[in-house]
This record gives sequence, C-alpha cells and structure tokens, in this order.
Amino acid sequence: MSKQHVNVIIIGGGAAGFFAAINIAELHPHLSVAILEKTSHLLKKVKISGGGRCNVTHTCFEPKELSSYYPRGGKELLGAFYQFQPLNTIEWFASKNIELTTESDGRMFPVSNTSETIVNCFLHLAKKHKIAIITETKVEKILPLTNGFELTTNNGEFTAEKIVVTAGGFNKAEQYQFLTDLGHSIQPPIPSLFTFNLPQHPICELQGISVNHVAIKIKESNYKEEGPLLITHWGMSGPAVLKLSAWAARFLQEKNYNFTYFVNWLPNLSAEEITTQLTDFKTKVATKKVSNAFPFDFPKKLTLYFLQKATIDENINWGDVSKKQLHLLTNILAADEYFSKGKTTFKQEFVTCGGIKLNEVNFKTMESKLQPNLFFAGEVLDIDALTGGFNFQAAWTTAWITAQHINS
Ligand SMILES: Cc1cc2nc3c(=O)[nH]c(=O)nc-3n(C[C@H](O)[C@H](O)[C@H](O)COP(=O)(O)OP(=O)(O)OC[C@H]3O[C@@H](n4cnc5c(N)ncnc54)[C@H](O)[C@@H]3O)c2cc1C
Repeated sequence: MSKQHVNVIIIGGGAAGFFAAINIAELHPHLSVAILEKTSHLLKKVKISGGGRCNVTHTCFEPKELSSYYPRGGKELLGAFYQFQPLNTIEWFASKNIELTTESDGRMFPVSNTSETIVNCFLHLAKKHKIAIITETKVEKILPLTNGFELTTNNGEFTAEKIVVTAGGFNKAEQYQFLTDLGHSIQPPIPSLFTFNLPQHPICELQGISVNHVAIKIKESNYKEEGPLLITHWGMSGPAVLKLSAWAARFLQEKNYNFTYFVNWLPNLSAEEITTQLTDFKTKVATKKVSNAFPFDFPKKLTLYFLQKATIDENINWGDVSKKQLHLLTNILAADEYFSKGKTTFKQEFVTCGGIKLNEVNFKTMESKLQPNLFFAGEVLDIDALTGGFNFQAAWTTAWITAQHINS
C-alpha cells in the first residue's frame, strides 16, 4: 500500500485537534492538513461536555489568576495565556458567529446552550478548509525521517513534514508508548476531578441534596477547598469535592483513595461561634421541637441527619438537649468526619492528571524540545484544570500557539 503524504498530520480528532487544524489551515492555506482519529467519533468529548452545553471557557482575563486554576501546568501556561487567553477565545468564536454567554459563576457557554453549535462549527470549518478527516485510524508508531515523519496506523502508512499530537489523556502509561518511543517521557496518568466514595454510608440516603458553601479538608494534609457540595447515591460530589480531587490527585492516589476527610458545614463560623449560636437558640426556643426549628439554614433531611448523628432524638424539645449533645452537634457541623473508601472507575473521570512532561516542550511554540517539527496541544500534555471551562481553554491556547509556529 502506498504512503499518503500530508504537510501536517494532527493525531486526534478532539477539541485541541480541530482547533489546531482549523487555525493552521486559516493561517497557512498552502499546507495540506489531515486529522487522524482512532475512533469513528469526532469531537466526542466536546459533544458531551458541560452536560451537553459545552463550557467553552471562563471569564477570567488575567493570565496570572487564570493559571491558578491549573493544578498541573499553571506555571507553563502563564506565558502561553499572554498569547491566547479567554478574551481571544471569545473573539475567535465571535468571528465564527458564535456568541458566548456567561453564567453567574464565570463559566461561558454558547448562547445556543448546546455543544452541537461548537461541534457543527468545527466540522463546517474543517470542510471549508479542506482538512482531511480520516477516522478509525489509530497512529501506532511515529518514525522520524530526515525531513519529517512516517506514521504507521491500522489504516495504512502516512508521511508528514509536521505532526501535532492532540491525542488527549490516556488512563494507562503504556498507551503513551508511540510518544515515549520518540524520546519523550510522561508523568504517569492518574485521574483528576473525581468524586468521593462512601459505600453504604447513611448520608447517601440524602442523594440529590446540595449545600451551597462547605469547606472540606483532607486529614493529615494541607489540602482544603471550599464551595458547593452535592450528596450522591455513592458519596459526595460538587465543586468543593472536584476541586479537592484535582489539587490532591497524586496524594490521594498514593493513599489508594482510602482517606479521611472533614466537612465543615458552616465554614463562615468558628466552632466557638457555632456553640454560642446553638446555646442561644436552645434558650430562645426551648419549648420547640428540634426537628421543627434549627438555627442554621440546611435542607430539612440534612438537619435531621445531623441531629441523629449527634444522638439527639428529633422528637425532643430544644430545652431537653444536653450540653454533651450540643457539643457533639457543634463537632458535626464544624468538622464532620468521613472515610472515603476506594474510588469509582477511571472511565467516569473528567480529566487526566499526567501526560507528556512539560519541560520537554517549548511553551512559546508548543514544539517538542526533543524532536523538531513535533508539536503537542491539549490534554496529552501534563496539564489539567479545575472545572469551569479551563480544560478547554488550555486546549484552545496550546492549539492556537501551535498553529502560529508550525510553519516557522
Ligand atoms: C464528561 C466530560 C465533560 C467535560 N466538560 C468540560 C467542559 O464543559 N469544559 C471544559 O473545559 N472541559 C471539559 N471536559 C474536559 C475536556 O473535554 C478535555 O479537557 C478536552 O476534551 C481535551 O481535548 P483534547 O483534544 O486534548 O483531547 P480529547 O478530547 O480526549 O481528544 C483526543 C482524541 O484523540 C484520539 N486519539 C487518541 N490516541 C490516538 C491515536 N493514537 N491515533 C489517533 N487518534 C487518537 C481520541 O480518540 C480522541 O478523539 C470534560 C470532560 C469530560 C470527560
């Protein structure tokens, strides 16, 4: 079978792959560009992202602050954000007639409120610029030649002068072999942005209940995050948990995901203040049933859960609550202890922590420091962010920079 030749081959038809391909085609119309995608699906993650709405980016326009949302890669991305940041993302999509709208927490979505808008835009532009899209073609080996590369796939051989690797994250180190064979090394992949497992814990019966503001701290560590919490049928989720899982990703993996953590249900109050408020309340509403009045604003079912945990019978009056019980209740509200046991399967995770080591890539150009004409963009790099549109922003930024420098 003869080898197909293309000027630029993009490995992976996801967010970074399409963004790189389109920008390369627009900037360098004389170059032929092909996307090789191992599956039969294009832009699969874009489609399902943000609950089908695609959280494209975040209204954070100061590079330093922006880089603080990346547990891995923030330092390296700082300079890159001076080249292409959320303002540029907004402009880029606006230039393609896609307006983005901002939610109260800063997340930005297409005004259409569906990821199809982004998917269709990319597919349309790829067609317009005659970018070849070759699906069910898995790159298995890359051989550097004197003037380019030879790629072996399950669907024939290709040659190209330049390669952009946008293959996303993998869950096993072996899956990076076609890149490590080129001399690159990886930070071992582990999950980030995962939920905390509490198998058979009574709190799981409160699934669906969320609390706007809690603080969670992992025992015997400095890892602590604040934000909303969601109780699920398997444990705890929501922004506070996801943020913590991202920052503590390696620490928790080393603990085999068996760890103790404390939920502070009232992070704006000290334990002393909670005790004072409970004691005052007890005096003020002494003849009221504990289940009918509570000094803090929580969903009723959660309040009953706290009372039960503090051994307070829900049918007694506040006046009958003992000092010891009040003390127990304070402890629960200020530092409610949980033991997370193991974790859910890797496939459900949002992003990979780990990937191509960042010191092997020039972040001014996204070119490999080890192999000239080899570029990296997106999640294949050891970059991952908190939720909020930051992961896509890293893909747009690194892909855009690649396009600027691919022909220099
Ligand atoms: C459920 C879910 C929701 C998310 N929501 C958001 C969100 O709203 N906002 C946000 O910022 N981030 C979100 N993320 C994260 C975001 O989707 C990723 O960070 C982003 O898609 C990474 O883009 P990428 O192009 O680097 O990798 P990917 O999107 O993973 O694309 C890589 C592609 O390369 C292909 N590939 C891999 N190896 C090969 C090979 N050897 N040969 C050929 N092809 C190959 C893969 O099949 C894949 O199609 C979400 C992730 C998930 C899982």
